[in-house]
Amino acid sequence: MITTGKDYIARIDQLKNDIWIDGEQVKGKLSEHPAFAGILKSKGALYDLQHHSETASILTRKNQNNELFNFAFEHPTSKEHLTNRRIATQLWARKSGGTIGRSPDYINTAIMTLGSSSAFFSGRYAKNVVNVLEHAKKNDLSFTHTFINPQVNRSPHYIEFSNEKEDIIAAKIINETEEGIIIHGARLLATQGGVTDEILVMPVGGNHIDPDYVYAFAIPSNTPGLRFLGRESYASKGINSFDHPLTSRFDEVDSVVVFDHVLVPWDRVFLYRDLDSVGRIFTDTNLNFMLLFQAVCRQVVKTEFLLGLCESVANTIAITEYQHVQEKLSEIIITLEIMESLLLRAEQEGQINPFGTFVPNIKPLMVASSYYQKTYPRLVEILHQLGASGLIALPTEKDFQSEIAPDLNQYLQAKNASATERVQLFRLAWDLTMSPFGSRQTQYERYFFGDPVRLASSLYQSYDKTRFVKQIETFLQDK
Ligand SMILES: Cc1cc2nc3c(=O)[nH]c(=O)nc-3n(C[C@H](O)[C@H](O)[C@H](O)COP(=O)(O)OP(=O)(O)OC[C@H]3O[C@@H](n4cnc5c(N)ncnc54)[C@H](O)[C@@H]3O)c2cc1C
Repeated sequence: MITTGKDYIARIDQLKNDIWIDGEQVKGKLSEHPAFAGILKSKGALYDLQHHSETASILTRKNQNNELFNFAFEHPTSKEHLTNRRIATQLWARKSGGTIGRSPDYINTAIMTLGSSSAFFSGRYAKNVVNVLEHAKKNDLSFTHTFINPQVNRSPHYIEFSNEKEDIIAAKIINETEEGIIIHGARLLATQGGVTDEILVMPVGGNHIDPDYVYAFAIPSNTPGLRFLGRESYASKGINSFDHPLTSRFDEVDSVVVFDHVLVPWDRVFLYRDLDSVGRIFTDTNLNFMLLFQAVCRQVVKTEFLLGLCESVANTIAITEYQHVQEKLSEIIITLEIMESLLLRAEQEGQINPFGTFVPNIKPLMVASSYYQKTYPRLVEILHQLGASGLIALPTEKDFQSEIAPDLNQYLQAKNASATERVQLFRLAWDLTMSPFGSRQTQYERYFFGDPVRLASSLYQSYDKTRFVKQIETFLQDK
């Protein structure tokens, strides 16, 4: 029931998903394509940890038949379950310094939550969410996901009118048959689109008035008509781990997803034209709670990674005695402590929900994710301020193997590191924050879980302010 890295990679290779990148359809094995080789290998290594003696008990759970399954599929029914989930999530996240945003546990947590909240779904759809969860758990599957429509027109009153099939942009239901529903159009932005076994498609947020856009389902990534239009890969051919220590291993590739008359079988549909339930699917199932918990676990790890990196950069060139450097480093410490405290509070104040799931307190998680959207770019800026020109004067591995090596060794040495050690460290800092991979990381955190403006607004709207207003009234009366 728990997969190995080798089996996962072989499985994805066999799917022959329809992926396009840089003007070409990917042919042959995905694991041999430069854009996907690194991420597949890295995800494979995560799966392999399920089999290592030191990590197996953290990453796996047992069912009634004593069969092992991945931790993300466990239905948490106690605080201890949530604590163990945090430890497992962070163990996986540490393998990439938190830079793999979509490690398998992210959407597997969604699949677990939907399956465990089956009572939310009506009629046959309730059975479908349970079956998909069981299937995913049994086969240790991975999922990509798409939750938003193409960015065509975001003006307040825009509604897409598409009477003709040729006019359709945002994916919608265009037909239903005995076998299932037909979806046509596009969705954004499936990170790792085509690199996973399946795709989870959920309704976009906001108010729904047109039932053609009301659907949720999960289908295999190689379903006929499903196409992944990948962005330019940052992991080009010949890239190596010295020059691009993160890009070479963790570039996930984000894709526009095209549904070209895709038939979604009825047994894969979770929600269909149900205008009453669509607005509540994320909140009532507590999907938001569980996804944010996974995300904040990862963001804590990423902050630890940034702190370690900034401190190492500062130590290498001996700048830690300056007060402003200490102040900057303490800004990262403060972020780390705030994020960790919010995470632990969410866990500590968890509760059993109506579906018997022990869910974290959503409030601190909403605060953490909103806070991180704004704080992460500042942490990146701190690294830039500490590294200065060291983040630019970055020879490659080939330079070190060439006849200019003696110059490099002499002139790029640092107080506390040889030239090679220093360049390796600064390259890591550059790759995390300045390379195309690094810039995407910043954009990723900025838009993680949605637009920062609307997320902050939903925090404001959902936050009960009455007792504080009451306190002011009482204070004024107490004169
Ligand atoms: C690197 C990366 C990876 C991603 N991976 C995934 C993924 O795997 N799956 C997935 O489903 N999504 C993914 N996303 C998408 C992510 O969820 C969205 O970026 C996010 O929800 C914001 O939506 P948008 O990009 O369409 O921005 P828009 O909604 O188009 O916003 C653009 C700008 O307009 C403003 N704006 C637009 N509408 C409003 C409004 N109604 N009120 C106020 N201001 C408004 C916004 O504040 C913002 O400044 C990813 C995004 C990034 C950057």
